[in-house]
Amino acid sequence: MRIGIDFDNTIVSYDALFHKVAREAGLVPESVAATKVAVRDYLREIGREDDWTEMQGTVYGGRMGEASAYPDVFTVMRAARRQGHELFIVSHKTRHPFRGKPYDLHQAARSWVESAMRDSEGALIPPEQVFFEVTKEEKLARAGALGCDCFIDDLPEILLSPHFPKDISPLLFDPDGIHADQTSLVRLASWRSIAAHIGVEIV
Ligand SMILES: [Mg+2]
Repeated sequence: MRIGIDFDNTIVSYDALFHKVAREAGLVPESVAATKVAVRDYLREIGREDDWTEMQGTVYGGRMGEASAYPDVFTVMRAARRQGHELFIVSHKTRHPFRGKPYDLHQAARSWVESAMRDSEGALIPPEQVFFEVTKEEKLARAGALGCDCFIDDLPEILLSPHFPKDISPLLFDPDGIHADQTSLVRLASWRSIAAHIGVEIV
């Protein structure tokens, strides 16, 4: 099977890092929950939208190396590799942040993949199977051109896009259970449940 996987908030969880960076900058009180959404909502509420925008450049750029993966992502990838499945990362993000230092966000993400996503047998996903596109349309076209059988993403708007290739099974990764209203999509809360759904056996 050819398995397409989104990157941000599907493989990588930024919750702890957003909270850490916001606390270091003195932008949020300790009481704000350690999640990306809680930090964003707090900053919007107090009218610090620009700080939120700049913080995204910091987290996805300069501090990317400190981001962590969702539980069991690597276990599932190792099992999939062993069972002969082909894995692809297909993501979209701007090349540079909208505000702040002009980090190369594609390079920062690629460096994370190269350093975090490897074990004694080598890369969990070979570099030539990792794609960072600039637009949503390019991302979906890439997933289609790769002939993915399924595609895992945290955003319903990607999976329900009119550009989403018809022959790919969309799978919604919803670790925080915020998309219960998306009844037309297969919704999976953990990487273990993704593995079970697509038939990757974890030993
Ligand atoms: Mg995402």
